[in-house]
Amino acid sequence: AKAEGKNIYRVYNQAWDSRSERKMLLEKELHKALLKEEFILHYQPQIDLATGEMVGAEALIRWSHPRMGLISPGEFIPLAEETGLIVPIGEWVIKEACLQARKWREAGLPPIGIAVNISPRQFNKPDLVETILGIIEQTNADPRYLELEITESVAMFDTEQVMEKLDKLKSRGIPIAMDDFGTGYSSLSYLKKLPIDKLKIDRSFLVEVTPENANDNASIVAAIISLARNLNLRVIAEGVENAEQLEFLKAHRCDEGQGYYFQRPVPSEELEKLLQKRAAG
Ligand code: C2E
Ligand code: CA
Ligand code: CA
Ligand code: CA
Repeated sequence: AKAEGKNIYRVYNQAWDSRSERKMLLEKELHKALLKEEFILHYQPQIDLATGEMVGAEALIRWSHPRMGLISPGEFIPLAEETGLIVPIGEWVIKEACLQARKWREAGLPPIGIAVNISPRQFNKPDLVETILGIIEQTNADPRYLELEITESVAMFDTEQVMEKLDKLKSRGIPIAMDDFGTGYSSLSYLKKLPIDKLKIDRSFLVEVTPENANDNASIVAAIISLARNLNLRVIAEGVENAEQLEFLKAHRCDEGQGYYFQRPVPSEELEKLLQKRAAG
């Protein structure tokens, strides 16, 4: 039994070693990835549920490493957050999204909101607002079509500073969405005070939601939709994967939906085709 215990320890230890080795390797490569232009943005359509029309798209970062292949943001974003690399990466994301929006606008395509994710560490930089306004000016972007997705954890830090930043952004016409809503700890009174425009229902709540099934998730989704309506906020459900979920959301008059049922995140050329289709239709 003793020998067995030792083996288990060794196996565990090896697994740990290779995990931390990958992490160290990723971190080393992440430092170079921006300069080597290994990032691209994919875009996932956001659909107005009343009209069925695409009204926005979320920009989602993709890292394609020449030797390691495609690395998921679920793996490298936390690492970037930990090391602080999220700050330059996040700035690149905003700039890239603004440049792309300008290209589409210059091509005469219908304008849609492009949502970018702002991580907590990025949000908490004292110069966040100036940086974003700088990029908007530099790229000649329309601030009304650049939406920032923040999470409840962002709003948890220094309340006064958070409020001041959001007010400044809002006064420039930049919409703010609360991402992964319902998974954090923000209180409802705090939510009422925050100058935000939209709630994004976390996709974990969409699991097993159907019009017939009166389960906990269905109650939560319905409650968030009516909360948003009462607070005069737009509401979008993410992770819509099937017709039953869509039917439920429509019945409860959720404003927008996003998910594989409509479209997976796609490269910019493919989103452009969808925009052309919308312009033609
Ligand atoms: P998120 O902001 O909650 O983004 C939504 C995630 O759900 C995306 O994963 C998207 O591909 C996925 N998704 C969309 N529809 C469905 C669906 O119907 N079913 C399922 N199962 N999943 C769906 P992705 O692209 O892998 O991104 C994961 C997370 O990485 C994002 O979660 C976000 O937190 C972070 N992330 C991605 N891009 C950026 C970025 O540019 N900056 C920052 N700070 N974080 C980013
Ligand atoms: Ca998001
Ligand atoms: Ca989300
Ligand atoms: Ca999420």
